[in-house]
Amino acid sequence: MKRTSRISDLRNIITEEKKRGRKIAFVPTMGFLHHGHLTLIDKAKETGAFLVVSIFVNPLQFGPNEDLTRYPRDIERDALLVEAAGVDILFHPTVEEMYPEKMVTFVEVGELDEMLCGANRPGHFRGVATVVNKLFNIVQPDMAFFGQKDYQQYLIIKRMVTDLNLPIQICPVPIVREDDGLAMSSRNVFLNPEQRQEALVLSKSLNEAERSIQMGQKSAREVEEQIKKSITLKSQGVIDYVEVRDASDLTEVTDIKRPVLIALAVKFGTTRLIDNKVVEVKRDV
Ligand code: AMP
Repeated sequence: MKRTSRISDLRNIITEEKKRGRKIAFVPTMGFLHHGHLTLIDKAKETGAFLVVSIFVNPLQFGPNEDLTRYPRDIERDALLVEAAGVDILFHPTVEEMYPEKMVTFVEVGELDEMLCGANRPGHFRGVATVVNKLFNIVQPDMAFFGQKDYQQYLIIKRMVTDLNLPIQICPVPIVREDDGLAMSSRNVFLNPEQRQEALVLSKSLNEAERSIQMGQKSAREVEEQIKKSITLKSQGVIDYVEVRDASDLTEVTDIKRPVLIALAVKFGTTRLIDNKVVEVKRDV
């Protein structure tokens, strides 16, 4: 496996691969890799394309009071993992390499930035869309893989690619969970044993909500209340949001008639966890 922190090196290598007629598959990450990331990498590998993985903790998407400096990092361990996964090149630029000057140009994502994870993290998705756009311009992939763990991010990137006519196929990958249901996340290492146990309420309450919708519950507000109640009863988690939204465009939903996204963010101590579920609605017979 090749590995570089230089944009120019990466560009030269990719130009050569493209000359040889190879397609490029890309998996952007912030590192501290777990099985969720490795599943994205496996999916990308299946395409047979030249496989690029990036690791970059992007300062632009962290707010002033967020966990940028404390975000977990272990580039040497990550490099071993991606090499074993059959990645062709690991790109791990420094902040200076990605942002040599103060940025004045950004990708705005409109109302998609003002809801769910955007509401309490102003500018977060602008930072995500901007860095992903930069990475797309650097890597010039044919396909890029995004996890549905970050469903809002996935939709925003899909929309950016459509709106800005980027010739890139966005490939979604379902959420990868621990055996007990907790969605895998680099931030899970910050949970103490009690919080780790309590955090199971997230996936459990999403499953319960899915069951109740499939049994005929049509009220989005009631579903949200039911989940909030479970979380408050069974844990000390502090709810940031629990929302039922249209799964295709995140618009507000009152009556559940089409597939919905149930998304939530809850803080356990200082660790903010997100999880979600897309629920199909059974047709009335
Ligand atoms: P991150 O390193 O957290 O920025 O994540 C990099 C990519 O991996 C994003 O597309 C995430 O959605 C995806 N990802 C992270 N955790 C999971 C998971 N548990 N299941 C599926 N995809 C994931």
